[in-house]
Amino acid sequence: MKKIIILFFSMFLFANNLTPQEKEDVKIGEKYFKKILKKVEISKDKNKINRVLQVGKKLAKATNKDYKWEFVVVEDKRLNAFCLPGGKVVVFDGIFKVIDNNDQLATVLSHEIAHAILRHGHYKSQVNYILTAPKEIAKKTFGGFVPKDFHKVLDMAYDIGKNLTAMLPFSRFQEIEADKYGIKLMHKAKFNLDEAIKFWKNMEKYSKTNIPEFLSTHPNHHHRIEVIKREIEKIRNKK
Ligand SMILES: [Zn+2]
Repeated sequence: MKKIIILFFSMFLFANNLTPQEKEDVKIGEKYFKKILKKVEISKDKNKINRVLQVGKKLAKATNKDYKWEFVVVEDKRLNAFCLPGGKVVVFDGIFKVIDNNDQLATVLSHEIAHAILRHGHYKSQVNYILTAPKEIAKKTFGGFVPKDFHKVLDMAYDIGKNLTAMLPFSRFQEIEADKYGIKLMHKAKFNLDEAIKFWKNMEKYSKTNIPEFLSTHPNHHHRIEVIKREIEKIRNKK
């Protein structure tokens, strides 16, 4: 049953342009992907599934990596998406709350894919969260309202005991790096780059009335928008 809804896309028959490290990534990704699929509620929304596949395929091609790309939409109200090492992309349907079109969806997916390609290890906290939190928490606690005990939720997301503040600067650097790389991917896949700015403005607006789920990794929308604008200018000046 699940197989019908998971979107599978393989660009090449043989994974021949991958480094040994990347081949290892594919294995790690596959292992976690299997575990995650057992734990989440997979969306049956055909419209969302098709949009994610359509956009994801183009971006996957733009990476020029022979990963075994797979895309799945899960029922989870949080604004989130992530890419496991080796090209397994998980999109939470909550993200559609702040997306106006497929170019904006490409903004999210390209950013997450960039983390995976740049080997940032961002999937770790996500995997940890999904595999340790009961399904009901993800579905209900984040159902569009602010959780009462936000810090408790943060602890869960980032594994209790981890030094959150020590992680922040590195993580912010990686965010910017993923934004820049993501914009390049969007450009290569011929998405409208102006929508990236609009998307982050949507996020900024949304964050004012809703506590952002990923406070530490997505810290300052204004700064990020400025970086993205500069990156787009650079691309356009090259022409
Ligand atoms: Zn990120």
